[in-house]
Amino acid sequence: MRVIDAHVHTWTRDIISKKDLEARRIAAEREGTEPQFDSPIENLRVAMDKASIEKAVILPIDSGLNQDMPLSLKEKTDWHANEVSGDSNIITFVGLDPRRGDEGLAELERAVTEKGCRGWKMYPPNGFYPDEMEFYPYYELCTNLEIPIMVHTGFTSRFKHIKYGQPIYLDKVAADFPKLRIVIAHVGVPWVDEAITVAAKNPNVLVDVSGWQAFASRMPHRVYKMVADAKLMRVFPNKMLWGSDFPLFEYAMPLEQWLGFFANLKIPKSLLDMGYSQVTKDEIEVVMWKNAALLFFGEKP
Ligand SMILES: [Zn+2]
Repeated sequence: MRVIDAHVHTWTRDIISKKDLEARRIAAEREGTEPQFDSPIENLRVAMDKASIEKAVILPIDSGLNQDMPLSLKEKTDWHANEVSGDSNIITFVGLDPRRGDEGLAELERAVTEKGCRGWKMYPPNGFYPDEMEFYPYYELCTNLEIPIMVHTGFTSRFKHIKYGQPIYLDKVAADFPKLRIVIAHVGVPWVDEAITVAAKNPNVLVDVSGWQAFASRMPHRVYKMVADAKLMRVFPNKMLWGSDFPLFEYAMPLEQWLGFFANLKIPKSLLDMGYSQVTKDEIEVVMWKNAALLFFGEKP
């Protein structure tokens, strides 16, 4: 089976803020692991190779409005664009805080038309709700450029704010920009029902399951229940993307194992007895790569 990872990250300590380095240290302490101060694209390539993952989507984050960043906005776009240049299997989005106004709009256009970025990654926990009218020009531009947007939702790191991560703030955007394709990252954990509801209601909204290996490793029932609910609401399989958030959850479950878990996922009897439906191999395949091939790599179904 082909596999596309819809959600990965790369960085080195030279491109992230001191505060983010500190957040990495705190997160590692919480999980009892070594902090990851560097995760260059070479590490991603090795992990993809080992797990037989064909393609991946890098999602840079712009925290430049509330933290001192070592690189300017443009330098950061270029850093990510350069790391994937010449690679047809790994693509990058542009990370951009929409509070940057006209400067950000110009950078979004430059990133896509000149630097080859394939979508916009938005990170609301940096301090904004996505449905502010002042951000509408961004959604208009993305619609015109025909690029998808990936929006972080739910849990976040120590110095960012969870309240801005509620998936509900994407509903109005999805309704007002029906041609804009929006991905709700992480199925909104802990607002899972909310994320599935927003995706179920809006034909242009999908969810990605990255980060759920944290549950798969300790409480797999939560993953089964989420997939069963998503199927009930017709979000699974056509509006769900498999992803990992590599390398952030390697401590919980290595990439290869997470892939195997999802590729072989079956809804347990306890849920079937409640009335949920079983998932099929064909449906799982749609989630593992078909949706992503269409959305990010322009392949025809
Ligand atoms: Zn992520």
